[in-house]
Amino acid sequence: MTESMHDFVKAINEAKPRWSAEGVTLRLGMEADYFPGSEQMLKELVGIYEWDYVIGSVHYIYGWGFDNPDTQDHFENYNLENLYRDFFMMVEKAIRSNIFQFVAHLDNLKVFNYRPDERLLLPYYENIAKALVETDTATEINAGLYYRYPVQEMCPSPTFLDVLIKAGVPLTTSSDSHFPDDIGAFIDVNTRTLLEKGVTEIATFQKKKRIMKPIKDSHPF
Ligand SMILES: [Zn+2]
Repeated sequence: MTESMHDFVKAINEAKPRWSAEGVTLRLGMEADYFPGSEQMLKELVGIYEWDYVIGSVHYIYGWGFDNPDTQDHFENYNLENLYRDFFMMVEKAIRSNIFQFVAHLDNLKVFNYRPDERLLLPYYENIAKALVETDTATEINAGLYYRYPVQEMCPSPTFLDVLIKAGVPLTTSSDSHFPDDIGAFIDVNTRTLLEKGVTEIATFQKKKRIMKPIKDSHPF
């Protein structure tokens, strides 16, 4: 809430020729918080500019920004099974809003290691995979929680990722960089994970159209 969307769009568009000369195609994207009931407002907001993609995310539940380290003790106030049930209900609503080209970090509620036995979460994983397939929405492997938060696990978890791959959900990779130096962080690792699990294509986006591209395993390990 410190920069204007207009300035951001302008900065990216102005940088396109400079990067193009280096052989890099910049795409214009935005991550937008999803709040149930705000669909119309959000549609109007994102409709102002011509995005290549809009990422949908859930970072708040019951008005609580659950990835804020200062309020992590709030997890102690909840029954984790119910908390995850309500969280995944919101993620499903975000997916079914059809506002987003892909929905981000599907299980970021685990950020501070509060998670019930994953076997209890499997029905939710299946349900989210179904919603993504039915709405033709992609998701990502996101490294943010791996290198920046106590859980030190990619989103989605390996078990969740297997469910998504089995359902045929299109996937992209994200470094979730908060700083320029983090752009591309762990993309090589997550690309290798996808290849090892038999995924051969990666989702890219242009003017809100998804374009699947073959994965190139060009990174030395
Ligand atoms: Zn996010």
